[in-house]
Amino acid sequence: MVVAASDTHEPGVYAGPCDICGDELYAKPGARVVHCRLCNVDYDVEPRRQKLLKKAESKLLGAADIARVLTGVGLKVTPERVRTWIAREQLKPAGIDRARRPLYRLRDAQRLAEQGPFKATRQAA
Ligand SMILES: [Zn+2]
Repeated sequence: MVVAASDTHEPGVYAGPCDICGDELYAKPGARVVHCRLCNVDYDVEPRRQKLLKKAESKLLGAADIARVLTGVGLKVTPERVRTWIAREQLKPAGIDRARRPLYRLRDAQRLAEQGPFKATRQAA
């Protein structure tokens, strides 16, 4: 049995809970459809992601979760990039969790992700 050194699990793209059984569904990266094995149903990934993002927009999340959620909606944000925003104070803490770690607003991070890495030098019309 091979265990990845970096992470305990990389289940794919989070697609929200199954409408029927509530089990968490994970799509293969790039897949358009996610399958619930328990219910034997397929769901389109894209509308589910949009819904999840809408729901998560105002949520406060840790840096790693922010990267995961944004990557899940196709914005290709690495945890390193989130940390860079934090280091540059482009992304400011909006709260702390129970372990006293800073939490950030997903909407703020999403905006930074959509601006691209070179926001200061160029502004698309
Ligand atoms: Zn199900």
